[in-house]
Amino acid sequence: MPTPETTRKLREAKLTRRRVPTGPSSRLIERSYLGLILADVVEPMIEMMLAEVPALLAAAGVRSDSLDLTLRATVGDIRIRFGQLVTRNIFERAPRSAAGETNRQSKRIIRRQVKAALGVSMVDADDVQTAALVDAWVARNVALIRTVESRYFETIQRKILELAPGGTRAVGREGIADAITGVVDSTGRTARFNAARIARDQAGKLKAQLNEKRQTDLGVTEYTWDTSNDERVRDLHAERDQRRFKWAEPPNETEDDGHPGEPINCRCVARPVFDFTGPEEAPSRPLTGARPST
Ligand SMILES: [Zn+2]
Repeated sequence: MPTPETTRKLREAKLTRRRVPTGPSSRLIERSYLGLILADVVEPMIEMMLAEVPALLAAAGVRSDSLDLTLRATVGDIRIRFGQLVTRNIFERAPRSAAGETNRQSKRIIRRQVKAALGVSMVDADDVQTAALVDAWVARNVALIRTVESRYFETIQRKILELAPGGTRAVGREGIADAITGVVDSTGRTARFNAARIARDQAGKLKAQLNEKRQTDLGVTEYTWDTSNDERVRDLHAERDQRRFKWAEPPNETEDDGHPGEPINCRCVARPVFDFTGPEEAPSRPLTGARPST
């Protein structure tokens, strides 16, 4: 909450500029977030699996009637060892870091906007509590990154088992070796792709949530919808460009709708409308016409 001193200044300030800056896009944060997810979780997982390919091939060399069981046990064993290596702390590290960076950026943006529009300099004590919001976002992101891990091992297990019924007799040792290597490679690419999708969508969502929290905390009730003005903007959002919306009434026209930045992969931003003067006062001039009877 802004301090009483800042609240007073905000109320007394004259609006000097209607169109305030919106700050940088979340692209850089998104990129460093993805880099951390890959370095902490996805690449170690892929490396561990690749290192075990010879063990899988050895398993594939055993009698074909028990091939599926042997392969399943081998992949299951790798997954357990990965779970011991990559702890909860490691899963949290990338989201924590991205959240910290986004939060600092969001604080800088609102300060710049308030300064530009009203000429008021905000101080640290004016800032809103964001710990609960950030914690919820981190928990959600840990869960999402965990799905990358579980889908990776489950997909490899399923695809390798699909190879098993024919066994070595059907495709020969060489054939099954190629097939297993192919499965491990393509599933690794999918895991990297899934991590990139999470980073892109989630970095923008957190930025949007923090900006909303800071604006509404200051008493901003409306924003102007601002698109990134390129061909990737969805038609629905292009129609909303430069129109005013209320924070209290999130748009709800489609299943995946909401304030700017909330729908999946949305890069739109909410430009705050600073107007702390309240509704226009009724004219004090007496009404003309019939005089009130006395
Ligand atoms: Zn959008």
